[in-house]
Order: sequence, then structure tokens, then C-alpha cells
Amino acid sequence: MVLSLRKAARRLALLPAAAAVLLLCLLRTPDSAPAARQPGTQLRVVMYHGLTQKKSETGRYVIEADLFRRDLEYFRRSGYTVVSMQQVYDAVAGSRPLPERAVLLTFDDGLYSVYLYAYPLLEEYDACLLFAPIGRVTDQYTDSRDRNPSYAYCGWQELREMQRSGRVEIAGHSYDCHSIGQGAQGIAPRRGETQAAWRLRIAADLGRMQQTAVQQLGAAPRVFVYPFGAVPPEGDALLREAGFTATFGCESRMNFITQDPACLYKLGRWLRPPHTDSAAFYRSIWKET
Ligand SMILES: [Zn+2]
Repeated sequence: MVLSLRKAARRLALLPAAAAVLLLCLLRTPDSAPAARQPGTQLRVVMYHGLTQKKSETGRYVIEADLFRRDLEYFRRSGYTVVSMQQVYDAVAGSRPLPERAVLLTFDDGLYSVYLYAYPLLEEYDACLLFAPIGRVTDQYTDSRDRNPSYAYCGWQELREMQRSGRVEIAGHSYDCHSIGQGAQGIAPRRGETQAAWRLRIAADLGRMQQTAVQQLGAAPRVFVYPFGAVPPEGDALLREAGFTATFGCESRMNFITQDPACLYKLGRWLRPPHTDSAAFYRSIWKET
């Protein structure tokens, strides 16, 4: 419904006030209408996995290490601020607002290449990241000397070092629920599994992860990253019971941070693709609101 302004003004003169307000609302064209804004500060979260120095190893979940360095360079040049999870919690608590153009970087699965190539850059670029290792794999690599950057994972020794730097927060990613296929998908119920059996199985897995992290890192993670972005309907409730105060899925969407702690559950993330220039990728997610 689009009327010329003159016609609208003539009609308005004849209308009672309430109807006039309604008509004014209807007259707004899509161009002049302010975008529907959710309350809260926008927070973009980006998901990385592995890094490599070999072009032949790049793929959907492995990008060139130099591309990550160029992302950090781009943030510095273009006024983006890499924020830590603590800054997000501070914003929710109302003690310090998030900066404009805030971006949170997450790395899933605990790959050694992140320790080797990303971690050394954090100090130089005043950046930080959220790292989500798998408990069982971390245990396995703690006892192994294999640190082949093409496939190896971090042991607890690397996670401790990164955590102590103050630039890396360790998140939960399950102790041993990082599998997909044959009826399994992360921490979602398995095919044919009852709700009660699922709750027991996942609570035991989360408990084992938290207990191991307390022994190895001195604290249990407060953030949980859903393996494969598989978010079961009761997932957040169960994670809340296990003590997690924030969760991440894999939906590519904007987050709005308010002073309601519930805004920290099922946070969305964009997957950082390989072979896309930093400016092109980050501009594309900045436009999407
Ligand atoms: Zn994962």
C-alpha cells in the first residue's frame, strides 16, 4: 500500500488521531522503515577448526595459517575488536559494554595446528580465542609424542599453556560424543534412545569432561560448543544443569547480547571458509544482520 504524500496528508486531515497514526505506519515504504532491531549489542562469532601451511591440505575445515594471520591484520586495520568470552560475560553483567564491531573467534576440536600457528599470533595482534577440544582425544595426545601438524591434536600440556597466557579460554566439546553417523550426532539422542537413557549418558560424559578439566586445567569450562552443531531440544537445559552458562551452535547468524544471561545460549557462528580473502569474508558477515 503506497499513497502519495499529498493524498495521505489530505486523508489525515479527515481522520481521528489514532487512525492517522495507523495510516502513517502503513505509509512507510520498505526503504524508509527502520530495520527491525533486536535489543542488545551485536556480536559476530566466527568458527575455525584447523590451520595449515600447505595449500594442498586446505578444505572446508582447514584454512591456510597465513589466512588467519591476514584476518587478524584485517581486524587491526579496519577497526574490528576481537573480544574474549570474558568480555561477553562482562557485557551481560552490565559492568562493561561490548565494543562496536566486536568479533569472537572460536576454534573447534583442539587441533595442534591451532597451538602451532594461531596461538603465537595472539600476543602480537592483541587477540584471543575460544578453543573447544574433545576430552578423550586430548587425553590420548597427552600421552603421545605425535604432533604432526597435519592431523595431531593438543594434549593437556598445550591447553594449560594456552590458558595461562590469558588469551585462550578452553570450552567443553564433550568428552567422547564427537561422532556422527550410525545413529549418533554429537550429544543428540541416538536412534531409539529413551529420554532418560540419553540424559544419563550425556550427564556422565559432561561430568567426565568437567572432572578431567578441573584436574588438568584447574577449572571446569563454563562454555559448551555443541559437536556438529547438533542441538537437541533439551540440550541447553542439561548443559545448564551441568554448570555451563553459555553454549554455541553452528547456525550462521547474528547474536544480540543483552543483560539477560539467557542470551548466551545457542549462540550462532559463521564458518570461516578457505580461499576467501579476509575483507570479502568479514564484510559479508558484517552486512548480514
Ligand atoms: Zn567439533
